[in-house]
Amino acid sequence: MITFENVSKQYPDGTRALKNITLTVEEGELLTLIGPSGCGKTTTMKMVNRLIEPTEGKIYVDGNDISSIDPVELRRNIGYVIQQIGLLPHMTIAENVALIPNLKKWPKDKTQKRVDELLDLVGLDPSVFRDRYPLELSGGQQQRVGVIRALAAEPPVVLMDEPFSALDPISREQLQDELVKLQKEIKKTIVFVTHDMDEAIKIADRIAVMKDGEIVQLSDPETLLREP
Ligand code: ADP
Ligand code: ADP
Repeated sequence: MITFENVSKQYPDGTRALKNITLTVEEGELLTLIGPSGCGKTTTMKMVNRLIEPTEGKIYVDGNDISSIDPVELRRNIGYVIQQIGLLPHMTIAENVALIPNLKKWPKDKTQKRVDELLDLVGLDPSVFRDRYPLELSGGQQQRVGVIRALAAEPPVVLMDEPFSALDPISREQLQDELVKLQKEIKKTIVFVTHDMDEAIKIADRIAVMKDGEIVQLSDPETLLREP
C-alpha cells in the first residue's frame, strides 16, 4: 500500500535525516516505526503526505508515485493524527468530527448517525459527548476524538505520529486497546510512530526499528521479543 524505494532526505542545513530507506507497508497492516528521538520517524511520515519532499528515491501509495499526485488530493486519502490534535474550541465534538469534507456533503441526519457511530467506536457515549466542547473533555477523550476525526473520511491510509504520548498511562493503555480493537474491525493501513517499545509490541503487526536515519530491523512483535 505504501512503498519507500531508496528514499533519502537531507535537510537544507545538511542534516541527513534518512539514509536510503526501502520499506513496504502492506494493505491493512499496522506498522510501527520505533526508534529514539531524532532517528527520522517524523521525517518518514511527513514525506508520505508530501509535507516534506525526499531528496532521493520514490514513494508510492497504492501503486502511484506520490510526486505526481496533487498534495491536497493525496491528503484526502491519508488520515493524520498527531500529539496536538487541534480540535476547534468553539465547535462541539460532533461539529469537529463532521468538518471532514465528505461528511459535510451528507444530509444532516446521516452525518449525525455517522458521528455517533464513530464516538461509540472509541467508547465515548454519543448522548454525552456529541454536544460538548473540546475543553470539556479530558486529554484522553480529546485524543479519541482526534483518532475518529482522522478515520471519519474513511481514508485508506492513516498516519499516527506519537498520538498517545502526551497522555497519562491509564488513558494511554485504554487507547492502545481501543486502537487494536478498532483495527480488527476496520483493517486500515496504519503507520504508527512511537518511541515506546511496549506500545509497539502491543499494537503492531510489524515493527520497523530505526536508528540514525536507517531501518535496522523489521520484524513482527513475537520475533522481536525472542531476538531483541
Ligand atoms: P524523530 O521523529 O525520529 O524524532 P525527525 O524525523 O524529526 O526524527 O528528525 C530526524 C533528524 O532530522 C534529526 O536529526 C532532526 O534534528 C533533523 N531535522 C528534522 N527536521 C529538520 C529541519 N526542518 N531542518 C533540519 N534538520 C531537521
Ligand atoms: P483525566 O483524568 O482522564 O484527564 P479529567 O479529570 O480531565 O480526566 O476529567 C474527568 C471527567 O470529567 C471526564 O469524563 C471529562 O469528560 C469530565 N470533564 C472534565 N472537564 C469537564 C468540564 N469542564 N465539563 C464537563 N465535564 C468535564
